[in-house]
Amino acid sequence: MIPIDEARAHVLSHCAVLPVVEVPCRAAVGMVLAAPVVAGEDVPPFANSAVDGYAVVAASVAGASAGAPLVLPVVGEVAAGGYTDRVLQPGEAIRIMTGAPMPAGADAIVMVEDTERVDGGAQVAISKAVQAGDSLRGAGDDVRAGTVLYPAGTVVTPAVAGMLAGVNAAVVQVVRRPQVAVLSTGDELVDDGSPLQPGQIRESNRTVLLGLVAEAGCEAVDLGIVRDDEAELERVLLDAAARFDAVVTSGGVSMGDYDVVKAVLGRIATMRWMQIAIKPAKPFAFGMLAAAPGAREIPVFGLPGNPVSSLVSFELLARPALRQMTGHPVIQRPTVAAVADAGLARRPDGKIHFMRVFASFGEDGRVHVTSVGAQGSHQLAATSMANAIAEVPDGDGVPAGGTVRTILLSVG
Ligand code: AMP
Ligand code: MG
Repeated sequence: MIPIDEARAHVLSHCAVLPVVEVPCRAAVGMVLAAPVVAGEDVPPFANSAVDGYAVVAASVAGASAGAPLVLPVVGEVAAGGYTDRVLQPGEAIRIMTGAPMPAGADAIVMVEDTERVDGGAQVAISKAVQAGDSLRGAGDDVRAGTVLYPAGTVVTPAVAGMLAGVNAAVVQVVRRPQVAVLSTGDELVDDGSPLQPGQIRESNRTVLLGLVAEAGCEAVDLGIVRDDEAELERVLLDAAARFDAVVTSGGVSMGDYDVVKAVLGRIATMRWMQIAIKPAKPFAFGMLAAAPGAREIPVFGLPGNPVSSLVSFELLARPALRQMTGHPVIQRPTVAAVADAGLARRPDGKIHFMRVFASFGEDGRVHVTSVGAQGSHQLAATSMANAIAEVPDGDGVPAGGTVRTILLSVG
């Protein structure tokens, strides 16, 4: 058996960041910038009003107060999208709406709440003094033209995409989103809703893995169930190597007579068959596969068939590798030192046990975990309720109140 860190380092050393593509900023959400984005223009592009109110020369309303309002003539009006070339003089006001350009001559805005219309709007009574710059948004005070808005490596969130649109960066250079094919193997698997015949079970791993692949920031491609048939599996795998960036298989990598993934990948790919010192998910296969000799090689993740094992080995080994291919600066899930509210019992066996737990934030500000229950590698029901995985080191387990390193799958 090899340590999990060695297995992960091996996998990561083979999964390079994908090439750069150019996409519209909206389509880039979830992707990673491959080049810095320099703002081509100021945001906002011109000085404008932050409120609805009256543009004034601040010095000319210095004496205004609630007790002694100052009445000024209203010499114009400007709305968002509009423009006035009237140059404001001291002692005058221009009615202005949020986002409208500052009239020349004006240096502050009096909020509408501090004013009252006089003479049907021909004049305005100002009941509060303002300072130069009040309620005014300067040109470029969000973004200055010519500055680096985002460095390479920035993850495009919805807000980043919006800001890219806001500086007219209509297309951006990003790392291509990996297309990751997922297939299940096994003659016993049924996924069409038909009644189970003796020996058959419903297929579940593919649904789990397609979801996890998408959640990792990749495009998940469903290749369905492949029967335990070497010729068929070889055809599907070679075809996938020609079309996609990675393949994830489940089942058929242990020592059984019908472990066809092992037989086929052993023949057509450069594989490393691992026995990892973890529970669940001890057997794990990883290799590089090309559609033809000399063609581009893609990584192949051979996950074990037991549903919990396939999920855990995806989390520990495939997910960081796929994230690395996307160019994400953070490839691992966050881990915390959590409090085990109840004991996490186990026996010494030379392996780290990755126990599925439910994590929540305690009033002490720490993360607390409790087992989700059944920990068998076939018992997906309990695992499906987990939001974290506790790493219980070799030994007798973690006592109630003890600390356990915990991988957070989701927060909140
Ligand atoms: P294998 O690794 O192919 O020997 O499969 C190990 C166990 O996982 C067996 O009990 C299989 O029936 C089960 N299994 C394999 N693939 C799947 C799948 N896609 N969905 C649900 N169970 C599976
Ligand atoms: Mg099988």
